[in-house]
Amino acid sequence: MRQIKFCRACIVLYCSLFILAGCSQKPYHKETRIMMGTFVEITCQDKTAMNAAFEEIKKIENIANKFSPASEISRLNKNGEIKASPDFLNLIKESKKYYALSGGAFDITVSPLVDTWKNKIKEALEKKSENLLPAEDELGDKLTLVGSDKIFINQKESLVKFTQSGMSIDLGGIAKGYAVDKAVLRLKALGINSCLINAGGNIYCLGKKGKRKWHIGIQHPRNPGKLLFYLDLENQAVATSGDYEQYFMLAGKRYSHIINPETGYPVDNGLASVTIITKDATTADILSTTVFVLGKEKGQALLEKIANTEYRIIEEKDL
Ligand code: ADP
Ligand code: MG
Repeated sequence: MRQIKFCRACIVLYCSLFILAGCSQKPYHKETRIMMGTFVEITCQDKTAMNAAFEEIKKIENIANKFSPASEISRLNKNGEIKASPDFLNLIKESKKYYALSGGAFDITVSPLVDTWKNKIKEALEKKSENLLPAEDELGDKLTLVGSDKIFINQKESLVKFTQSGMSIDLGGIAKGYAVDKAVLRLKALGINSCLINAGGNIYCLGKKGKRKWHIGIQHPRNPGKLLFYLDLENQAVATSGDYEQYFMLAGKRYSHIINPETGYPVDNGLASVTIITKDATTADILSTTVFVLGKEKGQALLEKIANTEYRIIEEKDL
């Protein structure tokens, strides 16, 4: 979660006809902070509530940041076990649930391979190395550490334990969505009924903006300046996963940060992006990554089983 990324979903805010007409709608404030390795943007009418929402996101960052030695995730990755806080336990339980539902496509234990490939992406960006493909041996060794069935949970004692040494987890495919949901809960507790939160493309639209639904533009995966389509949402979440923000090109092939846990290589199935619209941001975040890994057919088959979910799968060949 270290790398700062540009937001993939650009928020198109309506020019408020109310204000133009002189009606007394309270003005919206928009603030962006760098958190969770990305830009977190909140649009809402109440500044105190906005600060409270940022606070909630910060709490999840403190739990799920692999690069801070004091975080729960770092302590679990270092020691192989931990007495987990309720949020950390929820993150791991939810991840394991989708590991099972997806037949292993969503797998937080893919962490060692994520590190390998993210280092390669960094080297490519800094033009540090010509040798961008990791050795097969290295990938093979790391693959032996993968499998969320090797994470043991003792719910009663809030204990999380790895059953194989050397394992580690990465919550990059779920933590931003979860943090958004926590922020929404806090806002609701404060009586807020209109707000938009966008954590690096993991978005929740609370209520409406004035009389209209929130108008969200989803970025074109191959043209950052262009929007591919728009959504009008109310009390819904949307998340997009794709291969266009963290990647390098080699011999005409794209290597991104989303890893196929079966092969140890970045996903290579013809998809360019997956957008999921559903009722909460955690599920949208998990499912966008999962369907990106599964590919179109298997992804659609999984989505058919999940209630209240809409999606847009964009294939490379469509663009
Ligand atoms: P982003 O983090 O760019 O918003 P995603 O939500 O799709 O995008 O999550 C991708 C992140 O999830 C990766 O950067 C990595 O940390 C993690 N990840 C990569 N592959 C997998 C996978 N197969 N299962 C679960 N998490 C993954
Ligand atoms: Mg995700």
